[in-house]
Amino acid sequence: MKFLSGFIGLLLCAMITGPAATAADHKEQPHWTIIHAGTLMTDAREEVRREQSILIKNDRIEEIRPGYVMPEELDQVSEADIIDLRDQFVMPGMIDSHTHVTMEISKNSRLEAVTLTEADYAIMGVPFARRILAAGFTTIRNVGGPRDGIFALRDGINKGLIQGPRILAAGYTISPLGGHGDTNGFRHGVIEPDSGICNGADDCRRAVREQIKFGADVIKYVATGGVLSNIAAGTGQQFTDAEQRAIVETAHSMGRKVAAHAHGADGINAALKAGVDSIEHGTYLDKESIKLFKKTGAYHVPTVLAGITAAEMAEIPGTLPPASVDKARKVGPQIMEALSRSYKSGVKIAFGTDSGVSKHGINGRELELMVEAGMPERAVLEAATVNAADLLGLADEIGTLEKGKVADIIAARGNPLEDISTLRTPSFVMARGKAFVR
Ligand SMILES: [Zn+2]
Repeated sequence: MKFLSGFIGLLLCAMITGPAATAADHKEQPHWTIIHAGTLMTDAREEVRREQSILIKNDRIEEIRPGYVMPEELDQVSEADIIDLRDQFVMPGMIDSHTHVTMEISKNSRLEAVTLTEADYAIMGVPFARRILAAGFTTIRNVGGPRDGIFALRDGINKGLIQGPRILAAGYTISPLGGHGDTNGFRHGVIEPDSGICNGADDCRRAVREQIKFGADVIKYVATGGVLSNIAAGTGQQFTDAEQRAIVETAHSMGRKVAAHAHGADGINAALKAGVDSIEHGTYLDKESIKLFKKTGAYHVPTVLAGITAAEMAEIPGTLPPASVDKARKVGPQIMEALSRSYKSGVKIAFGTDSGVSKHGINGRELELMVEAGMPERAVLEAATVNAADLLGLADEIGTLEKGKVADIIAARGNPLEDISTLRTPSFVMARGKAFVR
């Protein structure tokens, strides 16, 4: 009844005020959803609760109440969608801090680099984004890729034109000429270096500013060589200390966090000294790295899945160019070891897969690999929720389920605190208050 009278009121009002009335004159009826959660983990650092109701108004959590609440019991709610998850484990949507959602590495990647436009990459990202969302990841941080392509994908999701996770996007990866983030191994003139390529501190400030100017939420740079770049240049430090300091200082001065790709200890330590917010991969981290991680509070984003995927690719002839094969065989198995060491030493860990190296949609496999590396299930869930939210600067919005936060909610049929693999295929996914339909 309440709904009906409100509707008629709205109708009358519209007739009286005529076409000059704006949307602001009328408060639209809020849309209510109530989730009945059999087991609820509101915060990965706290104990779970049984038989709870999550009250969601539009895209935000309004309240969490004990028991299974029905709309009739609520004063302010006339009707609501009820989602029955009474036999399931309900928790915050997960966050992948390291993706490349507009591409997937394959033996075609080098051909694609000279045939596809940024618009093509954006379109390719549409089904990839859906797969990541279906896997229970309601937010991703995309650390490098075709700039206009990723910004278009991000903005399309924000506008509700397509379904996908919330995306925080770096533009082009900031890289030295010929370095890991450059496009290597093509005849001169086939591919012009993009605006993320820079040499010398001043030029690197320009590169950072240019990404931000066109819409970057975060800055990603390569502190060391990398596995999948087609150049036999090792995995040690590539940008100088001065270049790294310039990148971090410029990004921070414009309110952007910085993620540094780094394998070799020399580059990891230079990046940490420069003040980065996270080290991606961290393969050969040493004692000094651990000290620096703890001193600066930077996160380690391990991406074990990428290491394993690259090592597997190295054994399939024709998948990786020869310059990458050797590096992939060495680095791959080391990454899990790096995570074991950093976790045991008390370094803060944020979840990240490097999906794009691995197939999009199997991001949850990283959870299992983190357990294999020696992390308890609870610590893994913390890394994929509260820690990643903190790293992304979104701790006020996501990472836990509480009043005022965005309704990014997933569910599993088993208990991931006992068996993490139950999150391989989440039974339910809601992003910003909208249930995802497969
Ligand atoms: Zn990456």
